Amino acid sequence: MDRERPTIYMDHSATTPVRPEVLEAMLPYFDVHYGNPSSIHGVGRKAKAGLDDARRTLAEILGARPDEIVFTGCGTEADNAALRGIALARRAQTGASRIVTTPVEHKAVLHTAYDLRDHFGFQLTLVPVDEHGLVDPEDVARALAAGPEVALVSVMYANNEIGTVEPIAEIGALCRERGVPFHTDAVQAAGKLPLQVDPLNVDALSVSAHKFYGPKGVGFLYLRRGTPFHPFITGGSHERGRRAGTENVPGIVGMARALALCESERTQEGTRLRALRDRLIGGILESVEGARLTGHPSRRLDNHASFVISGVEAQGVLMGLDLAGVAASSGSACTSASQRPSHVLEAIGVPPTDAVGGLRLSLGHSNTPEQVEHVLEHLPRIVGQLRGTVPIAL
Ligand code: PLP
Repeated sequence: MDRERPTIYMDHSATTPVRPEVLEAMLPYFDVHYGNPSSIHGVGRKAKAGLDDARRTLAEILGARPDEIVFTGCGTEADNAALRGIALARRAQTGASRIVTTPVEHKAVLHTAYDLRDHFGFQLTLVPVDEHGLVDPEDVARALAAGPEVALVSVMYANNEIGTVEPIAEIGALCRERGVPFHTDAVQAAGKLPLQVDPLNVDALSVSAHKFYGPKGVGFLYLRRGTPFHPFITGGSHERGRRAGTENVPGIVGMARALALCESERTQEGTRLRALRDRLIGGILESVEGARLTGHPSRRLDNHASFVISGVEAQGVLMGLDLAGVAASSGSACTSASQRPSHVLEAIGVPPTDAVGGLRLSLGHSNTPEQVEHVLEHLPRIVGQLRGTVPIAL
């Protein structure tokens, strides 16, 4: 926290701070149990024990088997592994050469799908979404029926920019009926929504630790036993040959601790955040003229409030909020720097003139009702000043 000006952090969808309990769990694996988990000596075995424990903890949370967890370097890598690994293996086994996904996926999925189309000879079908970014499972069924056999379907669990929660279990069920592997990007969902893979009907699921108070640069892919998979990082036989490279033991230990903590608090924290979110949404829609909610009004993440505000640019709003001590985002951390209207807002039909005014406030542990009121006090003034309807106080 800045001593001069305490920050009200409302950008938890971009990343979260590491919790003290998580840091504490990680520390011994830097300098005490620092061994290589592949080594057979005692120091290595200590590291391996930490790795095995973490794998068991994560598998339990997912209702999966420990050998179905493949550790990766981040959520982006988990998405790449799922799309490339499953699509290539399925095509080799069955000749299936089409990928079905949606236009609102994170770029880790969407750009990987484009790469498989442009450089690896796959066909790509993007199923439409409605004005809230919601996928209709019937549209997935239609996409599966139309055209060449499908190698893989990938639909995200919860959207990072607009918070919409997709009907994953229904989509998974119809993929299973047709024998098509189903992947979901659960990077925004992990720690906030149930992750049990059997009721969700998923064959592959991506997670990233830094979204739930774990460290950056570590994630995992759940990969159901028997799912065709061709590793895209080759080398040693780590992770049962599915992802080569010495495992990030401290990061993995921290990730397991972080997800276990979030799981144990999920219902209670979800209820608390939902109340803050709803006050934020209600207050902004009431007090900021030209603001409208993006994403689904009810099927949305408990911590996620997102808007477009007509007649202003996101950059100005974010700078004004920053001056008022509030850290927020225009949508996704990746698109805010590029200043291009987001592909998600485009897919849900927001006109480019409004899409430049995207605002995302994503809540977490540190946020309080007083902080929400602080935002509600300052945002109408910031927007008014940008529009020239409120004088700038000198
Ligand atoms: N998928 C979604 C939905 C995300 O929100 C993000 C991160 O913003 C990622 C994937 C990428 O995760 P990572 O930052 O660990 O690469």
